[in-house]
Amino acid sequence: MPSKTAPVPVPKPEVAKPVEKVAESGASGKPVAKKSKVPETLRGFRDILPDEQAVWDKMDEVMRSLTRAYGFGRIRLPALEQTALFERGVGKDTDVVEKEMFTFTDQGGVRMTLRPEGTASIARAYIEHGMLNQPQPVKLWYVEQFFRHERPQAGRYRQFWQFGLESIGSDDPVLDAQVILMCERFCKDMGLDVTVHVNSLGTPVSRRAYVAELVKYFKANKKKLSETDQKRLVKNPLRLLDSKEPGMEELKADAPQMIDYLDDESKQHFMKVLEYLDEAEVPYALNPYLVRGLDYYTKTVFEVMLTNPTGEEGAQSALGGGGRYDGLIPLFGGREGTSAVGAALGLERILMAVRAAGKMPDSKRRAQVFFCQLGEAARRKGLKIYEKFREAGIDVAEAFSKSNLKAQLEVADKLKVPIAVILGQKEVLDGTIIIRDMESGAQEIVDVEKVVALASKRLQEQNVRREEKAAKMA
Ligand code: AMP
Repeated sequence: MPSKTAPVPVPKPEVAKPVEKVAESGASGKPVAKKSKVPETLRGFRDILPDEQAVWDKMDEVMRSLTRAYGFGRIRLPALEQTALFERGVGKDTDVVEKEMFTFTDQGGVRMTLRPEGTASIARAYIEHGMLNQPQPVKLWYVEQFFRHERPQAGRYRQFWQFGLESIGSDDPVLDAQVILMCERFCKDMGLDVTVHVNSLGTPVSRRAYVAELVKYFKANKKKLSETDQKRLVKNPLRLLDSKEPGMEELKADAPQMIDYLDDESKQHFMKVLEYLDEAEVPYALNPYLVRGLDYYTKTVFEVMLTNPTGEEGAQSALGGGGRYDGLIPLFGGREGTSAVGAALGLERILMAVRAAGKMPDSKRRAQVFFCQLGEAARRKGLKIYEKFREAGIDVAEAFSKSNLKAQLEVADKLKVPIAVILGQKEVLDGTIIIRDMESGAQEIVDVEKVVALASKRLQEQNVRREEKAAKMA
């Protein structure tokens, strides 16, 4: 992926072209196999190259800091699950299950699916590992790759990363607020300005009453609905609320609103969540049309949106979302009344937004010591000395494949390394090594056994000198 502009995947064949192997005649007259073209990546899949790693590292750091602070334990999920897990958990009539799953039957005849999302697996794991016997709520987090056979476009891939949070075993609204706050802070720590769109879908009972009214309203306006929306009206009427079909904006504006149908329990819960968000100064907006695509949500639902989306990333301004799913664990055979709330943030989307906001962290390596070697004996000894620097926690760099000193020092210069150590034939014989101050060019010959300690001393001295200089300038 190029490092400056956000990627728009070019259309590729779904399956790579077969490798050509045409025999040709070589100089000797013998047939030579023609160089075969390597099959390209599949559509919607991509490599993440080293020049993009700094932002992934930063995301990792923020995830770790947040989950540690709020007491979430990491879970690593299997990539494959039984298809039935998603059909039952996510819902058969959802877009994800109906159209987007990578499903196949293995050699043993088992129907399996590459995970399209994390919550169903988390609910399964909670039950399978008897986590209801642990102090509740059980708080889990994950960072995993998910797979959906969607139409690839900017910010939409067929394999993508999500950072997920799940808090299971309590229906306290403070936990909804905690998960929302963590999502917002994650984006904020990545340098993004986001607003959380929130809504409440109520309990299944209040939702049923609302959906009945909604169906009545849209049936009366059936002629104005597109073909897709007419299908939604039959299969999943709530999805009409997030329809982007032409003319729906006006139709939705007059539709009955969920908030008017909430039962007391859901209303109280929602008010509490909003109070906590106010108190924690999490920017949010009430969005009565937010329904989320999956069946398992109850009460709170939310989506994390860029506050001021611009350009390309604006089309995909939802960075993540989640909500409460009080019915899922019981649906899977877990203890009745086991409530839960969770969220997932899309890391590719966040990366796109960070790039568009010009907040990409610097990916340049900041080594402190550069290791130079001259001659075979020095290279052999060098491997061990190099390890000593690494073990001491000093960030060290090398160009072992270069044998010329000038070429090695050029690399050191490029990396702006403050100190180089140089090991030549003579030094190997003497048991010494040279420490070179890269700024002044001053060199000293030291005992090789003491090089790590001395180099780290010189680095400290350089730091002190730099600080003194800065203080004087100020
Ligand atoms: P969802 O639960 O489907 O709303 O997904 C949560 C978040 O994951 C979305 O807001 C996106 O940021 C991200 N996401 C979902 N699908 C994709 C995809 N196909 N490619 C990249 N990111 C995705």
